[in-house]
Amino acid sequence: MKKPKIVILGAGYGGLMTTVRLQKMVGMNEVDIVLVNKNEYHYETTWLHEASAGTLHHDRVRYNIADVIDRNKVDFVQDEAIEIKTDEKKVILANSEIEYDYLVVSLGAEPETFGIKGLKEYAFSITNVNSARQIREHIEYQFATYSNEAEKNEDRLTIVVGGAGFTGIEFVGELTNRIPELCREYDIDNDKVKIFCVEAAPMVLPGFDPELVNYAVAQLERKGVEFKIGTPIKECTPEGILVAKDENEVEEIKANTVVWAAGVRGNSIIEKSGFEAMRGRVKVEKDLRAPGFEDVFIIGDCALIINEEINRPYPPTAQIAIQQGEVCAHNLVALVRNKAELTLFKPDIKGTVCSLGEDDAIGVALGKKMVGTKAAFMKKMIDNRALYMIGGASLVMKKGKFKVL
Ligand code: FAD
Ligand code: NAD
Repeated sequence: MKKPKIVILGAGYGGLMTTVRLQKMVGMNEVDIVLVNKNEYHYETTWLHEASAGTLHHDRVRYNIADVIDRNKVDFVQDEAIEIKTDEKKVILANSEIEYDYLVVSLGAEPETFGIKGLKEYAFSITNVNSARQIREHIEYQFATYSNEAEKNEDRLTIVVGGAGFTGIEFVGELTNRIPELCREYDIDNDKVKIFCVEAAPMVLPGFDPELVNYAVAQLERKGVEFKIGTPIKECTPEGILVAKDENEVEEIKANTVVWAAGVRGNSIIEKSGFEAMRGRVKVEKDLRAPGFEDVFIIGDCALIINEEINRPYPPTAQIAIQQGEVCAHNLVALVRNKAELTLFKPDIKGTVCSLGEDDAIGVALGKKMVGTKAAFMKKMIDNRALYMIGGASLVMKKGKFKVL
């Protein structure tokens, strides 16, 4: 009898968690499992702000997929998914195509630019290892050029971060550690460097605990970050950004580096493949399948699930993607074994910790607020836990964060 074929698209938190759980649960000849990913490595999306600032080398944020999958049970295909043809039960890849009986879509997020002029052309975004490497290199090049040019262009030393959500704040936190290093390396006076964090909403980290937010703002301001709150970015140009000053007036902030960290959307393959979606995110059923599909699961940043207590979508996080991966693996096994009952997904939010650089953070974990080194330690534990969940103790030993604070 033909074995059912499960195809998993994307080896991020959701896809890799599904794969490693699945490989433990199924017998050797029970199913064919195929994992498709653009790169031969997985990267910790949640650490990319560090690689982007240059406080952590990009090789520290990635590991080979081959190190965590069981080659006897999982075929790995390094390729790029282009489109899903649900009516033909196949996926078009850049170099081939692949048929499936069951499909898991876990292709992560893309930056949401809301159609703002110039962002795609002139702003960077913290999206993957290559974009992180490019941001780090670009900033360093600006410093190197500034120190070597006869007529000094001060804009080289100005960095604008668009958005004071979690990504924006974590990135500026890393910059406060990195900039003094760069200044020492290139003999530049630290006071010449400007870091602007520009936020459209009336507060930093909208919706987060105000006491913790106040702590974060004070700490980052003390280290030289200038916040521009209630200031939507209207345009990005080769010279910097234009922000709305008031209803009729715009103001220019000149900067040679603009990093857009003001929101994400689901992978554009979702819409291209005809799934009904809101900003690339499909409102999935409780068993994580796409509405109207018996054979397609959508998880992680491509999925939208509603927090029924407040009737609003949960923010897309690694925490949720990992938990969805576990449930998705269970449900795939249930379908393959013809079990009628599928597990329903319910997020178990253990807390949120936002780093403010190497040794500082704010957070709420298991209902308790924390700041400073205690919160920074907690953040490292969370990072290590994600490694442990996917690759066990050996992966934590290889890639974990152990620096004593
Ligand atoms: P990802 O983990 O991003 O993985 C997607 C995978 O798909 C990648 O391997 C990618 O290479 C692959 N892929 C993409 N397109 C294709 C294609 N066309 N073909 C083949 N492969 C493809 N969440 C938290 O819970 N805690 C945090 O502290 C936190 N910090 C964050 C910090 C930053 C800087 C950022 C950007 C996000 C952070 N998040 C955090 C959010 C979290 O990273 C995401 O919610 C999570 O990564 C989503 O998991 P995923 O499996 O959907 O996608
Ligand atoms: P976000 O949507 O959480 O924040 C984006 C911010 O940009 C918002 O504050 C928004 O008001 C602002 N913004 C939007 N348009 C703007 C404009 N034109 N000008 C200026 N500001 C503008 O996005 P994110 O920070 O990229 O986070 C993405 C997801 O990843 C979220 O779900 C987040 O919870 C998660 N994440 C979590 C952590 C953590 O837990 N430590 C860290 C990073 C990201």
